[in-house]
Amino acid sequence: MSNLVEIRNLQTYFYSDAGVNHAVDGVSFEIPQGKTVCIVGESGSGKSITALSIMGLIDPPGRIVGGEILFEGTDLLRLSDAQLRKVRGRDISMIFQEPMTSLNPSYTVGYQIDEALRLHQKHLNKKERFEKVVEALDLVGIPDPREKYREYPFKLSGGQRQRVMIAIAMACEPKMLIADEPTTALDVTIQAQVLDLMKELQEKKGTSLLFITHDLAVVSQIADEVVVMYRGHIVEKASAEELFNDPRHPYTRALLHSIPRPGVTPRKSQLDTVDDTVDYLAFPKEIR
Ligand code: ADP
Ligand code: MG
Repeated sequence: MSNLVEIRNLQTYFYSDAGVNHAVDGVSFEIPQGKTVCIVGESGSGKSITALSIMGLIDPPGRIVGGEILFEGTDLLRLSDAQLRKVRGRDISMIFQEPMTSLNPSYTVGYQIDEALRLHQKHLNKKERFEKVVEALDLVGIPDPREKYREYPFKLSGGQRQRVMIAIAMACEPKMLIADEPTTALDVTIQAQVLDLMKELQEKKGTSLLFITHDLAVVSQIADEVVVMYRGHIVEKASAEELFNDPRHPYTRALLHSIPRPGVTPRKSQLDTVDDTVDYLAFPKEIR
């Protein structure tokens, strides 16, 4: 099994008058071809900044100060902005957390998927693009895709808008899809549907998936490999099976301990029991 992406010692820092925030501080992991890697960790641990670093979307006062992001062997950190723009969209797409802020309210749903194809699949003509957009809407489970092509985002439900975002991200048939807490804003039933859908698309197209979440229940549902982040560091990485059956790092154990139990733990409190008076970086990192 080969790796699509290899991240080596990534360091992304934020600079301010108050000092330097080591948001991502020497992170290394791999994303195998066709597999799902989950990054899990509490809010502020550096999950999104890791994803945005891969996408080349770190803006000042943030800066990638070290490391390598090898995509099929090419270091993305050495590409020009123009080269990187090509990779983004064609090879790597990202789904952001808030569907409404990512869709433009003034354009139809179909137009916005078509726009991604116009940019990244230049060999297609207008008719071929229309068929591809309809196919994409159908694939993500939007009913009446030919009619929905002409709808504006506000006419769709939250779940449908999130599906449209997935359709946009998938339409270009990227080699890797990054999803940053894509289901957090959705209700539980829709969440499960969106997760199933992403797995299905992955199986159909062989897409690698980098999935970010603070929800361990979601991790257990979709991950092949898991990366546990804590304060900008990886404290443990393991296969999903190893991680859930035999967690090695005290922080991972604390996280697992706080898994909500249906009917017992209210869903919101899932990470509340991690003891924030403990400095988990003081323990050796159990990287397997
Ligand atoms: P999360 O794991 O919740 O996704 P982030 O990756 O967003 O965490 O954040 C990691 C760290 O980087 C946090 O300390 C956060 O405050 C900091 N950070 C993120 N974005 C910015 C920004 N635009 N400016 C300054 N600091 C930032
Ligand atoms: Mg985040």
